[in-house]
Amino acid sequence: MQEAPIPDADAGPDIELLVREDKLKLLFHQSFPAVFISYASALLLSWMLWGHASDVALVVWLVVLGISTISRLTLFLAYFRAEPRGVDLLHLERPYLVSLLSSSLIWGVGAVIVMPVDSLLYQALTLFVLIGMAGGAVSVYSARYPMAVGAMASVLLPATIWMYTQPGKEQLGLAIGASMFMVVLLRAAKVLANVLQQNFQLSRELHAAHAAADLQAKTDPLTGINNRRAFLDHGEHIIRYCERHELALSAIVMDIDHFKSINDTLGHFAGDIVLRQVGEILWKTFRRSDVCGRIGGEEFAVILPHTLESDALLIAEKLRKTIAETIIHCGDQRLNITVSIGVADASFDLTTLLLHADKAMYRAKAQGRNQVVCHEEAVVA
Ligand code: GH3
Ligand code: MG
Ligand code: MG
Repeated sequence: MQEAPIPDADAGPDIELLVREDKLKLLFHQSFPAVFISYASALLLSWMLWGHASDVALVVWLVVLGISTISRLTLFLAYFRAEPRGVDLLHLERPYLVSLLSSSLIWGVGAVIVMPVDSLLYQALTLFVLIGMAGGAVSVYSARYPMAVGAMASVLLPATIWMYTQPGKEQLGLAIGASMFMVVLLRAAKVLANVLQQNFQLSRELHAAHAAADLQAKTDPLTGINNRRAFLDHGEHIIRYCERHELALSAIVMDIDHFKSINDTLGHFAGDIVLRQVGEILWKTFRRSDVCGRIGGEEFAVILPHTLESDALLIAEKLRKTIAETIIHCGDQRLNITVSIGVADASFDLTTLLLHADKAMYRAKAQGRNQVVCHEEAVVA
């Protein structure tokens, strides 16, 4: 059985998942140019190394890197085409990580393979480019710390290790320099990742708190349907819509009969249970396009767009019957309640419409309660 959505302060969006989504979105947007820059840097380095390193190795490296760049671009294309959200977006997280790490490894390992063994100058040049790539990786991928560290290490670590294995003290110096740079990058990546995490989290929490406060300000906490203010707001909107499109429009005002005696005999708590039950029946009876609201203590109203008064009368009668036949359990007590309902149409002014329906509802009370009366009947009587 579907239940009225009673606002729950604890129920809210999964902030952790939303932050993950935000980070992934940032990664896609921020790293798109990096895909091109990465390949352009490989071309530039190959051009500089041409004639000093194995030409075949350079060509093979560029081809493999080109394939990995195309596969990365395919992933970006899939993202930008669909701009997925939620689970669909999170499904791209793993392919993103795999494609990033594989292209970083192709960069790092490939640079070692093409490294000129007999020229310190070109070794230093290669390491210089790798250090630039590693620094760039940290700034681009810092939204996800493991990604930033993985990309940075894949690019720079192989060449650094290679430098350590070389006999010259210059290469040892370069390796130590690159190691120190990696330590600095690790720390910078951590700080950036923490700041971004806090930023995204705060922004999401603020958004969720705002949405929850907005919902609470518009919802009756007891029944979960619109409170008076939200009902009037939504009602006004729907009436303007019907007026513009020349659609029929009806209103229902409903009041629980002898409600005070329930409070007096069984207590306020029992009265609240009855109100909640009536709210639930309203929730189930009306369409989502109808506007329901609790407009007073035990008084409810509904605006029915695109509905003739004759149809509204039938719906109101069905509602009256459902409420009269519903057994309400208050502890070990079983209660039957009735309602009086007034129905009106023929006005695109909300106040007039509600006044007419209210008048009809009071006519129903005067005629003995537990009945539906339309405004025309009330005027004639
Ligand atoms: P009638 O058939 O003429 O409508 O009689 P009634 O007793 O329903 O009408 P009356 O206006 O005399 O009483 C309405 C009662 O509704 C009085 C008030 O204490 C009670 N009430 C209003 N709001 C709430 C609420 O949120 N919870 C509970 N339990 N009672 C409420
Ligand atoms: Mg009443
Ligand atoms: Mg009343």
